[in-house]
Amino acid sequence: MITVSNKCIGCGKCVPVCPFAAVQMIDKKAVMNEACTFCGACVQVCPVDAITIEREDPIHKDFSAHKGVWVFIELEDAHTKGKPAKLIRKVGRELLSEGRKLADTLGEELCAVVLTDKNPGYEKEIGAYGADKVYLVENSELVEYNTDVFSTVIVALINRHKPSVCLYPATIMGRDLAPRVATAIYVGLTADCTALSIKDGLLLQSRPAFGGNIMADILSPNSRPQMATVRPNVMKLSEPIDKVAVVINEDIKINKNIKRVKVIERKIVHDKASAKIENSDVIVSGGRGMKDINKFKVLEELASSLNGMVGASRAAVDLGFKEKTRQVGQSGTTVSPKLYVACGISGAVQHIVGMKSSDIIIAINKDPNAPIFNVAKYGIVGDVHNIVPKLVKAVQKRIKK
Ligand SMILES: Cc1cc2nc3c(=O)[nH]c(=O)nc-3n(C[C@H](O)[C@H](O)[C@H](O)COP(=O)(O)OP(=O)(O)OC[C@H]3O[C@@H](n4cnc5c(N)ncnc54)[C@H](O)[C@@H]3O)c2cc1C
Repeated sequence: MITVSNKCIGCGKCVPVCPFAAVQMIDKKAVMNEACTFCGACVQVCPVDAITIEREDPIHKDFSAHKGVWVFIELEDAHTKGKPAKLIRKVGRELLSEGRKLADTLGEELCAVVLTDKNPGYEKEIGAYGADKVYLVENSELVEYNTDVFSTVIVALINRHKPSVCLYPATIMGRDLAPRVATAIYVGLTADCTALSIKDGLLLQSRPAFGGNIMADILSPNSRPQMATVRPNVMKLSEPIDKVAVVINEDIKINKNIKRVKVIERKIVHDKASAKIENSDVIVSGGRGMKDINKFKVLEELASSLNGMVGASRAAVDLGFKEKTRQVGQSGTTVSPKLYVACGISGAVQHIVGMKSSDIIIAINKDPNAPIFNVAKYGIVGDVHNIVPKLVKAVQKRIKK
């Protein structure tokens, strides 16, 4: 509960700092409306300590009104020319697939949340991955991501509908959005989850800890919604079904003045360099065993013959063989291509965690005891500098046939 005491001098300092436009000056006194999320921004600027927030004792809070598993759907530019609308990122489908299982276990609805300037019919794809509903906010202010605007809208939706679980992709956008929402509504957030399940009615959020050597299981029993970000390419996609999610059009007022960042120019680059490794069906990765940057180049030949991209271990990135955006693993990108070829990579746990869900893994290493062979479907024991050029020749010969 928020209260404004008689100490209020009507200075109005609390009005512009409110991200939710929830404070008005009425008869020279601050008054909060229903958009207030108790974020405390007004409390901090009040020069006479007139505003106080009393938070409920979380241990004895009644969460029975909180129902539903929500998935925030991130949209991305269509990288194919001629496709005007934004597309749902693959991680959104992955989270819906996993969210469906959680919702079924809880006996609750699975709902997607879409913030966009225009809806070309996302409910079909969202329904195909199991969602019952789409909470759709359509507004020209949502044409592109803005932290202040998106977090304000999500907070308003959460306050209105009270979900029990909210999942966000652990992408650049999701990693920015989810903590903003969590602090605004005063709930916990588990970042970078690699597994989710339900335990005694609570969301069990699992993520690697201590350098990936142990898995930490985290529960948030004292706040709702229970919120987590989940890495792309970790959750398995379900088979699409013949279902269309019900669209719930949400009317949320957006205060343009809360934007602290303005986009001045926008360029969409459709070239090879802007392609993301996590979207590639084939990845040929190199490690320290490639020895130097020039020897690393043969991996480009193999990758391009297979229509794939080159990845790298952290050691190879640290040695400058490849740029950081291509690092596979715990502190890089998680990938799950159809084919992953690991060349001169030992298979440290931090690397494995980022590629183990690839469909087929081929490892080339001169050490027959290298741990990478434990996750590989096919292993070649030998010198990468002899084997990879031979593979390139063999693949190119096949292509020519
Ligand atoms: C918090 C934290 C986060 C991390 N995040 C990541 C991450 O995201 N991604 C990541 O990859 N690592 C990460 N690491 C580092 C990780 O622990 C390993 O150090 C790293 O993966 C090792 O890279 P590598 O396999 O290329 O090198 P090495 O472990 O040095 O292995 C090189 C391999 O090449 C083989 N080899 C050498 N010469 C040849 C040859 N001529 N032919 C064939 N094989 C040869 C060797 O037998 C060896 O197995 C992280 C570490 C920490 C602590």
